Amino acid sequence: MGMTEDETFSELGSEKREAFKEKNKGLIPKSSFTDWYDNVLLEAKIADDRYPVKGFTVYMGWGFSIAKKIIQLLEDKLEKHGHEPMQFPVVIPEDVFQKEAEHIAGFSGEVFWVTHAGENILERRLLLRPTSETAIYPLFKIWIRSHADLPLKMHQTCNVYRYETKATRPLYRGREFLWNEAHTAHADYEDSERQVKEGAEIYSYVYDLLGLGYLLLERPSFDKFAGAVYSIAFDAWNPDGKINQIGTVHQLGQNFSKAFEITFEDREGKQALVYTTCYGMGIGRVLAAIISQHGDDHGLVLPPIIAPKQIVIIPVTYKGHEEAVNKYAKNVLKLLYEAGFRVVLDDSDLRPGEKYYKWEMFGVPLRIEVGPKEVDTKDVTLVRRDSMARSKVSIGELVEAVNRLFHEIYENIKDMSWKRLNELIVYSESLEELKSLMEKRKIGKINWCGDPDCAFKIKDSVVGEIRGSLWNKFEETKGPCIVCGQPAKKVVYVSRTI
Ligand SMILES: [Zn+2]
Repeated sequence: MGMTEDETFSELGSEKREAFKEKNKGLIPKSSFTDWYDNVLLEAKIADDRYPVKGFTVYMGWGFSIAKKIIQLLEDKLEKHGHEPMQFPVVIPEDVFQKEAEHIAGFSGEVFWVTHAGENILERRLLLRPTSETAIYPLFKIWIRSHADLPLKMHQTCNVYRYETKATRPLYRGREFLWNEAHTAHADYEDSERQVKEGAEIYSYVYDLLGLGYLLLERPSFDKFAGAVYSIAFDAWNPDGKINQIGTVHQLGQNFSKAFEITFEDREGKQALVYTTCYGMGIGRVLAAIISQHGDDHGLVLPPIIAPKQIVIIPVTYKGHEEAVNKYAKNVLKLLYEAGFRVVLDDSDLRPGEKYYKWEMFGVPLRIEVGPKEVDTKDVTLVRRDSMARSKVSIGELVEAVNRLFHEIYENIKDMSWKRLNELIVYSESLEELKSLMEKRKIGKINWCGDPDCAFKIKDSVVGEIRGSLWNKFEETKGPCIVCGQPAKKVVYVSRTI
């Protein structure tokens, strides 16, 4: 069964869709992104959204194995830069949460409350952390005594809870989500500014290792984190033209230290307020970005650094050759295992073709095929998951070849991802043009006067919203504000959001 060019998978009736999947070995074309994504989550054992509480998602084996690798990369980097790992409680008392006025205003509508212990009503209501500033700062107040205690840098990987009112979407937007948050305190503003920069560099480092394409933007002031002086954010592109915010870094100035009275004795012996920063990376959203940016019609395409299995060996046996081929395959397995690779030998009863489909869906970066021919010539056939390109290499050169191919796969998917992002960005000089760009699922680049009213007009008339201006690079404006015609102050990016 085929599809005509103007008939996408999503538009087919459910019967036709099942028939299509049946015929195409469970595969859905990526051009039907929403269906493709939901299908990959289940087929590749990433996540299951059928947990009986809406907005709460189960990470499955392959998905959580990838998530753990992402967390490991991030935690190692944070700790290398002096952040201590900690673990704070999930509950925050109501009175403590309400100390910072803007913060409570920003989050109060979406917190989950704990009000009872058995039949008894709690005297002091507790809430589940939507983010941990108000859990952490009462302890910062106790721990920080003098300038010698600063800077204080910590991080934790945990679940946070927000009663999202927008439509929930597995990994992208849930009511419970897994993230890593870092919190720091400093003696002066300069040091906290240096920290914001370090936070952004740590995140860039991790996203770059994952080959993701993203914009690093300073959010407009009306869109900053509740209680922040300013916020910067990593916006990854998504195949549906929306933007996936995969991390944020916030300069909090003295807003929270005032509210929580976090003071220290400075070098002159005087009491002073600390400056704080915080940054958070949503692990589910990063995983969603990896799936969505790198995946293709056959399923996942994983960067080797986070693939739970990096290589799958598949014996291609013929009658009479089974023993020799299987023995040879085991030798190849041993060689690669001892070289430190995460490798699996698929000697199950499936036919080779079925095994190819399976491991392609799981995004394993390299497949090794060994058959009677390979046994004779003492080599193996390598197939790259990203390009499906095949090559042959002798056993003696295998380890070196795998390392080289891993590097090439990483470079290739990273290049494709950035190329796609750059193709999505289109400069626009009128609201009409911008509107049509949003309909075409592009990211608009416009001149803006800086007035929030003009930003709200854009949101009302074109569906997309101003995400911000490049944080690490100043861009010269090329014309007046696209809305009011007044002189523009900034070049900003406009897109729809997830
Ligand atoms: Zn304007």
